[in-house]
Amino acid sequence: MKPALILHGGAWAIPDDAVEDCRKGIRRALESGWKVLSSGGAAIDAVQAAIVILEDDVTFDAGVGAHLNAAGRVQLDAILMDGATLKAGAVAAVERVKNPILLARKVLEKSEHMMLVGDGAERFAESHGVAMCEPEALVIERERVAWSKCIGSAHAAEHHVGHESGTVGAVAIDRSGHMVAGTSTGGTCCKLPGRVGDSPLIGCGCYADQEAGGISCTGHGEGIMKIVMAKMAADLLAGAESAGSSSKKRRVSAGRARVTMAKTTAAAGAAGDGAQNTAQFVADACVRKLEHRAHTTGGLILLDREGNPGAAFNTPRMAYGFVDAEGRFKVFPAAVR
Ligand code: ASP
Repeated sequence: MKPALILHGGAWAIPDDAVEDCRKGIRRALESGWKVLSSGGAAIDAVQAAIVILEDDVTFDAGVGAHLNAAGRVQLDAILMDGATLKAGAVAAVERVKNPILLARKVLEKSEHMMLVGDGAERFAESHGVAMCEPEALVIERERVAWSKCIGSAHAAEHHVGHESGTVGAVAIDRSGHMVAGTSTGGTCCKLPGRVGDSPLIGCGCYADQEAGGISCTGHGEGIMKIVMAKMAADLLAGAESAGSSSKKRRVSAGRARVTMAKTTAAAGAAGDGAQNTAQFVADACVRKLEHRAHTTGGLILLDREGNPGAAFNTPRMAYGFVDAEGRFKVFPAAVR
């Protein structure tokens, strides 16, 4: 099977002067993940490689440079899900792990459990050789300044360089058809200590079922949880697939957020050449549902089971990229001229 890769660095009000940093980060992550896939490597290694790059990039709200919580600390969440077995490995509210996606992988591969939080997750990390760090090593000056302003006055997005979020995620399919999805985040800025959003929750911020598709979400976690957005996308992909085999006019329905395959909705115009495909329609439908039922903002990236990409968002911009059918890197948002 032809490998496929899509990834994101969050749906947020990316200011013009942050666009280039986002594009660079997305490109580097695509390069890193695609190197694995194009040389015959495994989807799980590609997703891990891409997400580690994004976690280490202070442009994004994951790993170092993540938003501080109300107590002035970074608490990180991550998940990795195997589309073949439906097993996930997730961690939440960890403060001493530089790359939580590596810990999520250990939970996936070395634990009978699906999710570990806080102190227990950190102890598991130590006992499984995951690189630990001091909590302060995750904090950068930009976020400390933003946090002080929020604490000193009212919390405001502009204190965070115009952004509220910037979770990262990736979905890959390798040559053998194995699909894996992952998501990693610092969560929302000035969140209460112990708050966990959608990102590490199976079916909310991430889902992978290689009979349907792989999804990673971003945006307002409390809203995404309400509609269980990643699983919704997987179900729509599976439904569209089976409807497609019996009818020419396929429909993707998410309650009132219904679109018909004959129309182009192009909420984001995201998947470029693939904008007419089922994957893109499903992505659009999920964002409509998020807006209509949860009255909030966010976005998602996905691959259907054949590797077709879809991406949609209702924020001003989303940082994301994918490798198209000809092997070209497509990077968004578009460069600012
Ligand atoms: N969904 C994340 C959360 O609520 C934030 C984000 O995607 O930007 O924790």
